[in-house]
Amino acid sequence: MRILDPPPIPLLQELEPFSGIHPQELERISNLMQRQLFASGEVLIEEGAVATKFFVLIKGRLEVVKSTEGNDQEVLNTINQSGELFGEMALVEDKLRSAGIVAKVESEVLVVQKEGFLELVNHFPQFTLEVARSISHYLRKTDATLIGTLEVKNRELNSTIEELNATREALVDNERLSIVGRMASTILHDLKNPMTTIAGFAQLIGLKEMPYEDVVKYTKIISQQVNQFNTLAQELLAFAQGSSTLQLQELEFPACIEDSLASINHNLVQHSMKLVTDFNGEARIHIDPSRFYRVYENLVNNAIEAMNSGDTLSISSRLEDDHLIMTIADTGHGMEAEVLSKVFDEFFTHKKHKGTGLGLAIVKSIISDHNGEISVESVLDQGTTFTITLPVLKT
Ligand code: ADP
Ligand code: MG
Repeated sequence: MRILDPPPIPLLQELEPFSGIHPQELERISNLMQRQLFASGEVLIEEGAVATKFFVLIKGRLEVVKSTEGNDQEVLNTINQSGELFGEMALVEDKLRSAGIVAKVESEVLVVQKEGFLELVNHFPQFTLEVARSISHYLRKTDATLIGTLEVKNRELNSTIEELNATREALVDNERLSIVGRMASTILHDLKNPMTTIAGFAQLIGLKEMPYEDVVKYTKIISQQVNQFNTLAQELLAFAQGSSTLQLQELEFPACIEDSLASINHNLVQHSMKLVTDFNGEARIHIDPSRFYRVYENLVNNAIEAMNSGDTLSISSRLEDDHLIMTIADTGHGMEAEVLSKVFDEFFTHKKHKGTGLGLAIVKSIISDHNGEISVESVLDQGTTFTITLPVLKT
């Protein structure tokens, strides 16, 4: 790979994702990008790598490839349109790369780091719309393949379940698979609504002479729908991953959750709610921080949905024998016994705006993947407390 001179402004203007951005702004954001030249056969994205950047094709031809059993590679897609965005999906989802990208001929691309991506998404609706368009385009292209694969997988799953009934062996793994199968079909089903909305609004925006305020309004709806889809997809992925892919680290608690706390606090403040913390004692724990972040994220989102502005979320911890005990308590509307007994079940949701019902099922599976336990207590109209127990490493 060779780094080329910074992209000149006229070049940026010709690329669809940046076409609506003022030249002065382009000047400013051009130093968030790098122009790179890849020789034929060079790899731009390794499958399974951490996503830290996205790309825009300037010229050339690339292939999206995924490895299959037996060292073969399947070509999922070709990228050959100047201005085509790629690599943004893993970035949006904060996930590892699900496929690799290889140059098929000498290809010139713009590379934008994650910070640049966030800056663009936050300030330029036109860019966000391009991202939504690119994702929706990609999904439409892969939809047919995906459904075909799913049908095959479903048939396989059915026979797995039959075998399972006969043998009752390897119960745990297969159970996870069958749940993932059910989740995938729920998600495909739920995906129809956001995708129809996105397509509709994207078409509306395409109509000429639309007032700017309307464009802003519709772009906002589009990004909300994309976010909704991302939540669904993330929940499926989180559950499907299981413990085999845990990337455990030895970390110091509570220092290791400082970043998570900052983001929880930010989230609460936006809803005019408060965070109170009370950590007693320090401990070394063995966790996968990104997986653990999903635990807080789900618990906090549920708490926010159950609380009113002015309410407080308390997170506290203490050490008991060789365990760390963490509680997350809200002052929300609480739950009736009937609801309480089902909260950890997959697909159980009981709220005004129906959720996916996967949040707490995922929380529970992540905690048990860490050899921990989670329990819940709740008093109607007073609040809910989740208690997580985790083993502590001996020093
Ligand atoms: P979802 O949020 O998609 O409905 P979850 O698994 O996250 O699914 O939660 C399941 C249900 O448990 C929620 O619909 C809600 O009824 C209940 N619940 C979860 N957390 C709380 C909470 N902190 N306060 C009140 N009810 C809650
Ligand atoms: Mg939830």
